[in-house]
Amino acid sequence: MISIEHVGKSYDGGRTFAVDDLSLEVRDGEIFGILGPNGAGKSTTLNMLVGTLAPTKGTVKIDGIDVTENPVEAKRRLCYVSDTPDHLLRLRGREYLRFIADIYGVPADVRAARIAELAEGYGMASELDNQIKSYSHGMRQKMMIMGALLPNPDLWILDEPMTGLDPQAAWLLKKSMRKHADEGKTVLFSTHVLDVAEKVVDRVGIIAHGKLLFVGTVEEMREHFRNNSSLEEMFLELTGENSPLSGADAPEGM
Ligand code: ADP
Ligand code: MG
Repeated sequence: MISIEHVGKSYDGGRTFAVDDLSLEVRDGEIFGILGPNGAGKSTTLNMLVGTLAPTKGTVKIDGIDVTENPVEAKRRLCYVSDTPDHLLRLRGREYLRFIADIYGVPADVRAARIAELAEGYGMASELDNQIKSYSHGMRQKMMIMGALLPNPDLWILDEPMTGLDPQAAWLLKKSMRKHADEGKTVLFSTHVLDVAEKVVDRVGIIAHGKLLFVGTVEEMREHFRNNSSLEEMFLELTGENSPLSGADAPEGM
Protein backbone atom coordinates (compact mmCIF):
# COMPACT_ATOMS: atom_id res chain seq x y z
CA MET A 1 0.00 0.00 0.00
CA ILE A 2 1.11 3.51 -0.79
CA SER A 3 0.08 6.48 1.27
CA ILE A 4 0.80 10.02 0.24
CA GLU A 5 -0.06 12.67 2.79
CA HIS A 6 -0.17 16.37 1.95
CA VAL A 7 2.81 16.06 -0.34
CA GLY A 8 4.19 19.09 -2.13
CA LYS A 9 7.18 19.64 -4.37
CA SER A 10 8.65 22.97 -5.34
CA TYR A 11 11.54 23.25 -7.76
CA ASP A 12 12.03 26.96 -7.10
CA GLY A 13 12.48 27.29 -3.38
CA GLY A 14 8.78 27.37 -2.54
CA ARG A 15 7.59 30.03 -4.97
CA THR A 16 5.55 27.60 -7.07
CA PHE A 17 4.56 23.99 -6.47
CA ALA A 18 4.80 21.38 -9.25
CA VAL A 19 2.86 19.09 -6.90
CA ASP A 20 0.63 20.81 -4.41
CA ASP A 21 -0.81 19.31 -1.22
CA LEU A 22 -1.47 15.94 -2.77
CA SER A 23 -2.97 13.17 -0.62
CA LEU A 24 -3.76 9.72 -1.95
CA GLU A 25 -3.94 6.07 -0.92
CA VAL A 26 -3.21 3.33 -3.40
CA ARG A 27 -4.48 0.02 -2.07
CA ASP A 28 -3.20 -3.52 -2.31
CA GLY A 29 -4.85 -5.45 -5.14
CA GLU A 30 -5.49 -2.51 -7.42
CA ILE A 31 -4.17 -0.95 -10.58
CA PHE A 32 -4.21 2.77 -10.01
CA GLY A 33 -3.67 5.18 -12.90
CA ILE A 34 -2.50 8.75 -12.48
CA LEU A 35 -3.93 10.57 -15.46
CA GLY A 36 -3.09 14.10 -16.48
CA PRO A 37 -1.78 16.26 -19.28
CA ASN A 38 1.92 16.92 -19.86
CA GLY A 39 3.43 18.96 -17.06
CA ALA A 40 0.65 18.05 -14.61
CA GLY A 41 3.05 16.69 -11.99
CA LYS A 42 2.79 12.94 -12.61
CA SER A 43 6.51 12.22 -12.87
CA THR A 44 7.27 14.52 -9.95
CA THR A 45 4.79 12.57 -7.82
CA LEU A 46 6.18 9.18 -8.82
CA ASN A 47 9.75 10.39 -8.26
CA MET A 48 8.87 11.30 -4.69
CA LEU A 49 7.32 7.86 -4.19
CA VAL A 50 10.41 6.01 -5.33
CA GLY A 51 12.74 8.28 -3.39
CA THR A 52 14.57 9.93 -6.28
CA LEU A 53 13.10 13.32 -5.32
CA ALA A 54 12.65 14.54 -1.76
CA PRO A 55 9.22 16.03 -1.04
CA THR A 56 9.27 19.71 -0.09
CA LYS A 57 6.30 19.02 2.15
CA GLY A 58 4.40 16.03 3.46
CA THR A 59 5.17 12.34 3.77
CA VAL A 60 5.19 9.33 1.48
CA LYS A 61 4.91 5.82 2.89
CA ILE A 62 5.28 2.42 1.26
CA ASP A 63 3.63 -0.29 3.37
CA GLY A 64 3.84 2.11 6.29
CA ILE A 65 7.55 2.79 5.76
CA ASP A 66 8.49 6.43 5.33
CA VAL A 67 10.44 6.77 2.06
CA THR A 68 12.49 9.72 3.33
CA GLU A 69 13.34 8.22 6.72
CA ASN A 70 13.92 4.66 5.62
CA PRO A 71 14.66 4.77 1.90
CA VAL A 72 16.33 1.41 1.35
CA GLU A 73 13.66 -0.52 3.24
CA ALA A 74 10.96 1.26 1.23
CA LYS A 75 12.71 0.81 -2.11
CA ARG A 76 13.16 -2.92 -1.52
CA ARG A 77 9.40 -3.27 -1.88
CA LEU A 78 9.05 -1.51 -5.20
CA CYS A 79 10.23 -1.43 -8.76
CA TYR A 80 10.18 1.61 -10.99
CA VAL A 81 10.12 2.42 -14.67
CA SER A 82 11.15 6.03 -15.15
CA ASP A 83 9.91 8.36 -17.86
CA THR A 84 13.09 7.94 -19.88
CA PRO A 85 14.59 4.56 -20.79
CA ASP A 86 18.09 5.87 -21.46
CA HIS A 87 20.00 4.39 -18.55
CA LEU A 88 23.24 2.41 -18.30
CA LEU A 89 23.57 2.45 -22.06
CA ARG A 90 26.96 0.75 -22.17
CA LEU A 91 25.66 -2.39 -20.50
CA ARG A 92 24.37 -5.25 -22.59
CA GLY A 93 20.74 -6.12 -21.97
CA ARG A 94 21.67 -9.27 -20.10
CA GLU A 95 24.21 -7.41 -17.94
CA TYR A 96 21.59 -4.81 -17.07
CA LEU A 97 19.11 -7.49 -16.01
CA ARG A 98 21.75 -9.31 -13.95
CA PHE A 99 22.68 -6.04 -12.29
CA ILE A 100 19.06 -5.47 -11.29
CA ALA A 101 18.77 -9.08 -10.10
CA ASP A 102 21.89 -8.59 -7.94
CA ILE A 103 20.54 -5.42 -6.37
CA TYR A 104 17.29 -7.13 -5.42
CA GLY A 105 18.97 -10.41 -4.46
CA VAL A 106 17.09 -12.56 -6.95
CA PRO A 107 18.50 -16.12 -6.65
CA ALA A 108 20.58 -17.31 -9.64
CA ASP A 109 18.23 -20.07 -10.81
CA VAL A 110 15.13 -17.85 -10.56
CA ARG A 111 16.96 -15.09 -12.39
CA ALA A 112 17.89 -17.21 -15.40
CA ALA A 113 14.34 -18.46 -15.79
CA ARG A 114 12.84 -14.97 -15.34
CA ILE A 115 15.24 -13.37 -17.84
CA ALA A 116 14.44 -16.05 -20.43
CA GLU A 117 10.70 -15.69 -19.85
CA LEU A 118 10.69 -11.88 -20.01
CA ALA A 119 13.00 -11.76 -23.05
CA GLU A 120 10.79 -14.23 -24.86
CA GLY A 121 7.58 -12.37 -23.97
CA TYR A 122 8.91 -8.95 -24.96
CA GLY A 123 10.60 -10.23 -28.11
CA MET A 124 14.07 -9.28 -26.80
CA ALA A 125 15.77 -12.70 -26.68
CA SER A 126 17.99 -11.99 -29.70
CA GLU A 127 18.99 -8.57 -28.27
CA LEU A 128 20.15 -9.56 -24.80
CA ASP A 129 23.82 -9.66 -25.76
CA ASN A 130 23.81 -6.27 -27.47
CA GLN A 131 24.51 -3.01 -25.68
CA ILE A 132 21.48 -0.97 -24.66
CA LYS A 133 22.89 1.99 -26.59
CA SER A 134 22.27 0.06 -29.82
CA TYR A 135 18.58 -0.37 -28.94
CA SER A 136 15.75 1.74 -30.37
CA HIS A 137 13.65 3.80 -27.96
CA GLY A 138 10.97 1.10 -27.81
CA MET A 139 13.54 -1.62 -27.17
CA ARG A 140 15.10 0.43 -24.35
CA GLN A 141 11.65 0.90 -22.89
CA LYS A 142 11.08 -2.86 -23.00
CA MET A 143 14.44 -3.44 -21.30
CA MET A 144 13.53 -1.04 -18.47
CA ILE A 145 10.20 -2.82 -18.04
CA MET A 146 11.88 -6.22 -18.02
CA GLY A 147 14.34 -4.94 -15.41
CA ALA A 148 11.49 -3.66 -13.28
CA LEU A 149 9.47 -6.85 -13.47
CA LEU A 150 12.42 -9.22 -13.02
CA PRO A 151 12.59 -9.02 -9.21
CA ASN A 152 8.78 -8.78 -9.08
CA PRO A 153 8.40 -6.77 -5.88
CA ASP A 154 4.91 -6.19 -4.49
CA LEU A 155 4.64 -2.63 -5.71
CA TRP A 156 5.12 -1.62 -9.33
CA ILE A 157 5.52 2.09 -10.10
CA LEU A 158 5.54 2.77 -13.81
CA ASP A 159 5.86 6.23 -15.38
CA GLU A 160 4.08 6.28 -18.77
CA PRO A 161 5.06 2.65 -19.31
CA MET A 162 3.16 2.13 -22.58
CA THR A 163 4.95 4.96 -24.38
CA GLY A 164 6.90 3.63 -27.32
CA LEU A 165 5.84 0.02 -26.84
CA ASP A 166 4.60 -2.00 -29.79
CA PRO A 167 1.06 -3.38 -29.42
CA GLN A 168 2.22 -6.84 -28.40
CA ALA A 169 4.49 -5.54 -25.65
CA ALA A 170 1.78 -3.16 -24.44
CA TRP A 171 -0.69 -6.03 -24.34
CA LEU A 172 1.75 -8.22 -22.39
CA LEU A 173 2.50 -5.45 -19.91
CA LYS A 174 -1.19 -4.78 -19.30
CA LYS A 175 -1.77 -8.49 -18.80
CA SER A 176 1.10 -8.64 -16.28
CA MET A 177 -0.25 -5.59 -14.46
CA ARG A 178 -3.68 -7.22 -14.14
CA LYS A 179 -2.20 -10.49 -12.90
CA HIS A 180 -0.06 -8.68 -10.34
CA ALA A 181 -3.03 -6.76 -8.96
CA ASP A 182 -5.21 -9.87 -8.96
CA GLU A 183 -2.57 -11.52 -6.76
CA GLY A 184 -3.28 -8.81 -4.18
CA LYS A 185 -0.30 -6.63 -5.08
CA THR A 186 -0.19 -3.06 -6.29
CA VAL A 187 0.39 -1.31 -9.60
CA LEU A 188 0.63 2.47 -9.84
CA PHE A 189 1.24 3.95 -13.27
CA SER A 190 0.94 7.30 -14.97
CA THR A 191 -0.40 8.20 -18.38
CA HIS A 192 -1.46 11.28 -20.31
CA VAL A 193 -3.75 9.19 -22.50
CA LEU A 194 -7.30 8.72 -21.28
CA ASP A 195 -7.79 5.67 -23.45
CA VAL A 196 -4.88 3.85 -21.82
CA ALA A 197 -6.14 4.64 -18.33
CA GLU A 198 -9.69 3.56 -19.10
CA LYS A 199 -8.67 0.16 -20.38
CA VAL A 200 -6.44 -0.80 -17.50
CA VAL A 201 -7.26 0.86 -14.19
CA ASP A 202 -9.34 -0.13 -11.21
CA ARG A 203 -9.20 3.46 -10.01
CA VAL A 204 -7.91 6.62 -11.55
CA GLY A 205 -6.61 9.87 -10.11
CA ILE A 206 -6.73 12.96 -12.27
CA ILE A 207 -3.98 15.50 -11.78
CA ALA A 208 -3.57 18.93 -13.37
CA HIS A 209 -1.28 21.79 -12.37
CA GLY A 210 0.04 19.69 -9.50
CA LYS A 211 -3.34 19.20 -7.89
CA LEU A 212 -5.28 15.98 -7.60
CA LEU A 213 -8.72 16.86 -8.92
CA PHE A 214 -10.50 13.55 -8.75
CA VAL A 215 -10.05 9.97 -7.49
CA GLY A 216 -12.41 7.13 -8.33
CA THR A 217 -13.39 4.43 -10.78
CA VAL A 218 -13.64 5.06 -14.51
CA GLU A 219 -17.45 5.14 -14.29
CA GLU A 220 -17.28 7.66 -11.47
CA MET A 221 -14.81 9.70 -13.53
CA ARG A 222 -17.20 9.85 -16.50
CA GLU A 223 -20.03 10.92 -14.20
CA HIS A 224 -17.78 13.54 -12.62
CA PHE A 225 -16.80 14.99 -15.99
CA ARG A 226 -20.45 15.23 -16.97
CA ASN A 227 -21.30 17.13 -13.82
CA ASN A 228 -18.27 19.35 -13.60
CA SER A 229 -17.81 21.84 -16.39
CA SER A 230 -14.42 23.02 -15.13
CA LEU A 231 -13.02 19.59 -15.97
CA GLU A 232 -14.57 19.47 -19.41
CA GLU A 233 -11.68 21.21 -21.11
CA MET A 234 -9.18 18.85 -19.58
CA PHE A 235 -11.28 15.90 -20.58
CA LEU A 236 -11.20 17.12 -24.17
CA GLU A 237 -7.48 17.53 -23.96
CA LEU A 238 -7.03 14.04 -22.56
CA THR A 239 -9.36 12.46 -25.08
CA GLY A 240 -7.45 14.29 -27.77
CA GLU A 241 -10.09 16.38 -29.48
CA ASN A 242 -8.24 19.65 -29.17
CA SER A 243 -4.85 18.39 -28.19
CA PRO A 244 -1.64 18.54 -30.19
CA LEU A 245 -1.14 14.96 -28.95
CA SER A 246 -4.35 13.77 -30.50
CA GLY A 247 -5.19 10.79 -32.62
CA ALA A 248 -2.70 8.71 -34.54
CA ASP A 249 0.25 10.88 -33.54
CA ALA A 250 -0.26 10.25 -29.84
CA PRO A 251 2.94 8.58 -28.65
CA GLU A 252 0.99 6.40 -26.29
CA GLY A 253 -2.23 6.11 -28.26
CA MET A 254 -3.42 2.55 -28.31
P1 ADP B 1 4.24 15.26 -15.94
O1 ADP B 1 5.03 14.06 -15.62
O2 ADP B 1 2.83 15.18 -15.49
O3 ADP B 1 4.32 15.61 -17.40
P2 ADP B 1 6.22 16.66 -14.36
O4 ADP B 1 6.10 16.11 -13.00
O5 ADP B 1 7.36 16.18 -15.19
O6 ADP B 1 4.83 16.49 -15.14
O7 ADP B 1 6.35 18.24 -14.28
C1 ADP B 1 5.50 19.02 -13.47
C2 ADP B 1 5.99 20.45 -13.46
O8 ADP B 1 7.25 20.51 -12.80
C3 ADP B 1 6.20 21.03 -14.85
O9 ADP B 1 5.82 22.38 -14.82
C4 ADP B 1 7.68 20.90 -15.06
O10 ADP B 1 8.16 21.90 -15.93
C5 ADP B 1 8.24 21.06 -13.66
N1 ADP B 1 9.48 20.31 -13.47
C6 ADP B 1 9.62 18.97 -13.57
N2 ADP B 1 10.88 18.60 -13.29
C7 ADP B 1 11.56 19.74 -13.01
C8 ADP B 1 12.91 20.03 -12.64
N3 ADP B 1 13.80 19.05 -12.50
N4 ADP B 1 13.22 21.32 -12.42
C9 ADP B 1 12.32 22.30 -12.53
N5 ADP B 1 11.04 22.11 -12.88
C10 ADP B 1 10.65 20.84 -13.11
MG1 MG C 1 6.02 12.74 -16.85
